[in-house]
Amino acid sequence: RDLVSPEPEGDERLIEAALRPKRLDEFIGQGRVREQLSLVLESALRRSRPPDHVLMSGGPGLGKTTLAMIIAAELGAPLRMTSGPALERAGDLAAILSTLSEGEVLFVDEIHRMARPAEEMLYLAMEDFRVDIVVGKGPGATSIPLDIAPFTLVGATTRAGLLPAPLRDRFGFTAHMDFYEVDELERVLHRSARLLSVELPPEGAHEIARRSRGTPRIANRLLRRVRDFAEVRVEGVITRDVAAAALNLYEVDAEGLDRLDRAVLDALLRKFGGGPVGLSTLAVAVGEEPETVEVVAEPFLVRQGLLARTPRGRVATASAWMHLGLTPPPDAFG
Ligand code: ATP
Repeated sequence: RDLVSPEPEGDERLIEAALRPKRLDEFIGQGRVREQLSLVLESALRRSRPPDHVLMSGGPGLGKTTLAMIIAAELGAPLRMTSGPALERAGDLAAILSTLSEGEVLFVDEIHRMARPAEEMLYLAMEDFRVDIVVGKGPGATSIPLDIAPFTLVGATTRAGLLPAPLRDRFGFTAHMDFYEVDELERVLHRSARLLSVELPPEGAHEIARRSRGTPRIANRLLRRVRDFAEVRVEGVITRDVAAAALNLYEVDAEGLDRLDRAVLDALLRKFGGGPVGLSTLAVAVGEEPETVEVVAEPFLVRQGLLARTPRGRVATASAWMHLGLTPPPDAFG
């Protein structure tokens, strides 16, 4: 997917690295998470012990990786990064755990996608700082217990509901990352503009922030596209109208809905009369994986009051009909 795709693309990773806040006090928004986390970190520093394991849940691009890096920086600890899909066999995880240094922060992105044997190894490691290495196969196999250095696990997931309870319960602290408010995204944009040497008047920042789907990654990306547009078309000044024109060109609408968001709404309204319709049926109608619709499009549509999840399926609200310029039926939801 294109401009509002949830994942970083191409050389965007490099730019993201440059734009990442490095310390907790540079991290914008998520006030409650920041406060909770600063307590956890400070008390760990006072006790000179690694803090409890931290789970971060929230959609793509909301700053989970950034926060993991900040946790390590604030603790003055080294950081090891891996991801659930990379931990296919227990041995993959054992190799990492057994080489951690004392107090190291281990970041596991997409932790809900870890394979079962690795997951079971992780339980023991989190609780007792121990792994059981299995040597041999079949009836002759023996397991050798191995102590590992006390470490802090930072897990990130877009779907906390998918984590098995025994894993979830072993985290001392869960940070729920929410969509950002428009004024918070304006601050993200001003900070990025400064780092990228882009002149960004407040009205331009406001227009970009409004259309960024509550997501810093998207805000930073839209900023670069608007800058390109402004440089080529209007000698660099990012006014409100310039930002709006650039984003219309990239099919990001006035409420920040992108092509997938609109496709989901459009199918829900035109093909299923506003619902209720099941997630998988809706996903087939827009040609996407159910997980993409559920993790990427729906949370934002729900937040914008355009879609509701009900026990009988997905339902469009009256605002959804109006957003697509259609007349809501008299019994429309909401
Ligand atoms: P994913 O799960 O897709 O990896 P993520 O939640 O880990 O996403 P990050 O990679 O941490 O997201 O953040 C994406 C980009 O947004 C980074 O470039 C970062 O600079 C910026 N960003 C995220 N949160 C903030 C914030 N609170 N303040 C400023 N910039 C932020």
